[in-house]
Amino acid sequence: MIEKNSHFQHLFAFPRFAMTTKVDTHKAFIPFTPGTFANCPAESGVVVRAGVTNIDKDEIWLDRKVEVNGQRLDKVPYAYLVSAINLLSL
Ligand SMILES: Cc1cc2nc3c(=O)[nH]c(=O)nc-3n(C[C@H](O)[C@H](O)[C@H](O)COP(=O)(O)OP(=O)(O)OC[C@H]3O[C@@H](n4cnc5c(N)ncnc54)[C@H](O)[C@@H]3O)c2cc1C
Repeated sequence: MIEKNSHFQHLFAFPRFAMTTKVDTHKAFIPFTPGTFANCPAESGVVVRAGVTNIDKDEIWLDRKVEVNGQRLDKVPYAYLVSAINLLSL
C-alpha cells in the first residue's frame, strides 16, 4: 500500500473530537504501521510512505525515493493496481 500519511485520519470523528475535551484527540489518528496492520502475517505486504504523483500503464510514480525490497525507488512497477484515491487529483 502506498500512502502519503503516517496515520489514517478518522475524518468523520474529527468534528466529534473537536466538541469535547474528555477524549484523547490523538485517537482520531490511527497509525498505519504497526497499528492497522499489526496482525497481518509477516511478509504479507508493505506500507510505503509516499505520495503518488502519476500512474502510467507499468509504474506508479512517487514524490520521493523509498526503499522497497532493498531497492531505492521513486517508481514502483505493478501488475495489478487497486486505487483508493481520487485519480482526478493526480
Ligand atoms: C466531517 C466528516 C464526517 C463524515 N461522516 C461520515 C459518516 O458518519 N459516515 C460515513 O459513512 N462517512 C462519513 N464521512 C465520509 C467518509 O469519511 C469518507 O467517505 C471516507 O473517509 C472516504 O474513504 P476513502 O478511503 O475513499 O478516502 P480517504 O479516507 O480520503 O482515504 C484516501 C487515502 O488516500 C491517501 N491519499 C490521497 N492522495 C494520495 C496520493 N496522491 N498519494 C498517496 N496517498 C494518497 C490519503 O492520505 C488517505 O489516507 C465523513 C467525512 C467527513 C469529512
